[in-house]
Amino acid sequence: MNILVTGGAGYVGSHACRVLARAGHEVWIYDNLSRGHAAAALPGRLIVGELADRKFLTDVLREKQIAAVMHFAAFALVNESVTDPALYYANNVTAALSLLEAMRAAGVSKFIFSSTTATYGEPQQMPIAEDCPQQPINPYGFTKLVIEHALADYACAYDWSYAALRYFNAAGATPEGDLGEDHTPESHLIPIVLQVALGQRDQITIFGDDYPTPDGTCVRDYIHVDDLATAHLKALDKLIPGQGLQLNLGTGRGHSVREVLDACRRATGHPIPEQLGPRRAGDPPVLVADSRRAQRELAWRPQYEDLDSIVATAWNWHRTHPQGYESDSGNSARWA
Ligand code: UDP
Repeated sequence: MNILVTGGAGYVGSHACRVLARAGHEVWIYDNLSRGHAAAALPGRLIVGELADRKFLTDVLREKQIAAVMHFAAFALVNESVTDPALYYANNVTAALSLLEAMRAAGVSKFIFSSTTATYGEPQQMPIAEDCPQQPINPYGFTKLVIEHALADYACAYDWSYAALRYFNAAGATPEGDLGEDHTPESHLIPIVLQVALGQRDQITIFGDDYPTPDGTCVRDYIHVDDLATAHLKALDKLIPGQGLQLNLGTGRGHSVREVLDACRRATGHPIPEQLGPRRAGDPPVLVADSRRAQRELAWRPQYEDLDSIVATAWNWHRTHPQGYESDSGNSARWA
């Protein structure tokens, strides 16, 4: 199938492109490189363009005879969405709706959407199943939920098929060691902790230890980025016209911030000094997926079943790419 992957030069998108290409799909990446990296993109497959450039995007969809779109190109930092909501509504909503209209103009009606656990807000039910009320508590979560609603309406009115894949905490890197996480600035826990191990930071600040959790620190469900990528590939085969699939992608196991620190200490052999800081605004105490629906619907299971194996792949990437993709000094990732 000819697939357009928006944000295919980003973290999850680049891993998904590799999985799709290896499964025999014809992959085209559409990315403005504002946060992605050309070195992470499938060589010869990168089209640099703006999501909001509807005319150009429509031409690309037609010219490449695209049958399905996977949409990763979005901003995804909760804190940033609170301080600069305009950025999030412009990119994650306005530009995403423009993408949907480009698809309609080009007659493309299959869509796989990167959604998020942030659409649930602070759920009362744990683990979180898909029928749990979606009540976001930050602009990021709202922007993703708006597109989920738009997709449900498009499916109904225009006979579209789509999957909204609600990620829990994406983590790790390809075991081959040439694709990984590279955000500037970095705000995610595992990369920051590994930067301490690399001597790039003095210590890690734990954002609060007075949560109602076993050790007082927040609990998250860390899922390997390649397991997310595989779920996208499998979702392509399950699209049904006029219908949407809503699926949580997580492992079903929660780990506290302190457990993550310990896993990073084991992986790196570094003591990783820590300090305690205040809570970060908008952090729910526990977010763990009930992903049984995804397992059932997609015949999918996470291959990385424990935190240590996920952290090991992240450490392999960060150790060999201390400056992220810049460490490759212009060389493209290996795409064998
Ligand atoms: N966290 C932390 N210190 C940091 C970064 C993150 O204690 O320097 C905590 C954060 O409060 C959350 C967990 O680590 O409970 C995971 O945060 P991350 O930003 O990686 O992902 P999020 O859950 O926000 O999507």
